[in-house]
Amino acid sequence: MNDQPLDGLSTNDNAAMVLLVDDQAMIAEAVRRGLAQEDNIDFHFCADPHQAVAQAMRIKPTVILQDLVMPGLDGLSLVREYRNNPATQDIPIIVLSTKEDPLVKSAAFAAGANDYLVKLPDTIELVARIRYHSRSYLTLLQRDEAYRALRVSQQQLLDTNLMLQRLMNSDGLTGLSNRRHFDEYLELEWRRAMREQQQLSLLMVDVDYFKVYNDSFGHLAGDEALRQVAEALRGSCARPTDLPARYGGEEFALVLPNTSPGGARLIAEKLRQTVLALDIPHTAPEAGSRLTVSIGLATQTPPIGSHCRQLILAADKGLYQAKHNGRNQVGMA
Ligand code: GH3
Ligand code: MG
Ligand code: MG
Repeated sequence: MNDQPLDGLSTNDNAAMVLLVDDQAMIAEAVRRGLAQEDNIDFHFCADPHQAVAQAMRIKPTVILQDLVMPGLDGLSLVREYRNNPATQDIPIIVLSTKEDPLVKSAAFAAGANDYLVKLPDTIELVARIRYHSRSYLTLLQRDEAYRALRVSQQQLLDTNLMLQRLMNSDGLTGLSNRRHFDEYLELEWRRAMREQQQLSLLMVDVDYFKVYNDSFGHLAGDEALRQVAEALRGSCARPTDLPARYGGEEFALVLPNTSPGGARLIAEKLRQTVLALDIPHTAPEAGSRLTVSIGLATQTPPIGSHCRQLILAADKGLYQAKHNGRNQVGMA
């Protein structure tokens, strides 16, 4: 469609830009004289039919007055050419014929003409038709432009909503899902597992002696260590349905839908080793230690009518055991 604005014209519904395509200069002179007294009608004349489409593309008329009989090129072929060109396909075309002939008339409309006048109509009729077609063309362009703008702003709205949704769901420090999103997701997956009677696994991951870490290296170094643990957590998700989250403080969670206890234990053990392999120096439990995590693991096939709270409690119990038995290990209630 015509995406360039009609400089000046688009702001004035009443303005018209006429392109007359006719091999006879005399006709052009008569039309020019007829339109000369009119406000806001700009007149252009093209005597060479082979130049007509190019000129129409250049000046962007709001109406084309098209002679039917010209040497070298049939007017109707020209009408079809305007219609096949994306830049001119919607411009109203008034065909100027020498006679009132039903056959010529129907051929003109079939080719894509919008109107048919016998040369030369009186000025009142010519001006009225030019204004009518011009106005409806400008309205069409404005409507297309409004639709285009609407589509753009709808897309922007969708993008913004998506971005807001992501922000609302993610943790600022680590970029993982935050607690809010974790709660939502676990609830959803719990109900799905209940419906389909499938196993749902949950890991609760807690950094060992993290208070000491902050005290030894400072809060900023603590933040950086949490980011590294978060990356390890992200890396242990193999399926798109696995959800890593920051549960709060130095505690993380990993939701593993449709995962058996054996599968979950494998993931947990691998995660524990990955964190160890990060080789982050620590001062606890003793000098020369490395930063480690303890992991609690639970798997359940949700009983009908149950709440996902019980899965969190079970994973928490596993975590307590892991801590109690010396940390840097996976515990299962
Ligand atoms: P445990 O091995 O039993 O888990 O001991 P811990 O010291 O890790 O556990 P505790 O709950 O006593 O301390 C957790 C610490 O984590 C205290 C808190 O200051 C720190 N912490 C929580 N959130 C953040 C954070 O966003 N950044 C930093 N740097 N530290 C945090
Ligand atoms: Mg002629
Ligand atoms: Mg801790």
